[in-house]
Amino acid sequence: MIEQNLQLVRKRMRDAALRAGRRPDEISLLLATKTVGVEEIRRAIRAGERLLGENRVQEALGKFNELQSENPVWHMIGHLQTNKAKDALRFASCIESVDRMPLVEKLDSLLQSAGKFIDALIEVNTSGEESKFGLEPEGFVPFLRQVAGYQTIKVKGLMTMGPNVQDNALIRKSFRLLRECRRKGRDEGFPGVELDCLSMGMSQDFEIAIEEGATLVRLGTVIFGPRPTA
Ligand SMILES: *Cc1c(COP(=O)(O)O)cnc(C)c1O
Repeated sequence: MIEQNLQLVRKRMRDAALRAGRRPDEISLLLATKTVGVEEIRRAIRAGERLLGENRVQEALGKFNELQSENPVWHMIGHLQTNKAKDALRFASCIESVDRMPLVEKLDSLLQSAGKFIDALIEVNTSGEESKFGLEPEGFVPFLRQVAGYQTIKVKGLMTMGPNVQDNALIRKSFRLLRECRRKGRDEGFPGVELDCLSMGMSQDFEIAIEEGATLVRLGTVIFGPRPTA
């Protein structure tokens, strides 16, 4: 199942890229593994995937330990509470949900003490949905200006979640807005800031995201099946 799902997803990613006149190898797949068991994740890794994302620090640490011999790369993709920042740094090589200065300051102080760096994406709320985290789009450039001053935090791009709607035009608008934020950020030319990564697109909307410039899609359901409802 997982193996077939992966093959189908890779084909759908490639087709979406070609439709948009993009090179398929510009787009990476991250497996969103919340609630997924270690054995299933291991199968996906053995089927050729390496990039994993978790939402909750505690859940991530357990899987991080159990899967260490498989050498995956982990991203933190869920909302990160400041008091969990230290544990997040134990497993994550990139934090995709950087969205406020207290978190930046906390990460910086931990990283300085450890003599380490972290890759980061800045999360923007492009849907306007109140249930979602992330900066208001207007706040992106001022926030980026501040984060650019921290040597320990290497900004690699932006992350967003599309709106929970059926209307493809609205979803597309949300992803376009993220790309527009990136353009504005690039225009500032902050030293040390790279904005190559656009992390957008989930099981329901990843093809639209790719058409709109995603370089990283985060997929769970379409690979592992539906999650148990809380
Ligand atoms: C769960 C999750 C995903 C994947 O969602 P699916 O709809 O299962 O593909 C992607 N990004 C984030 C931040 C998530 O929490």
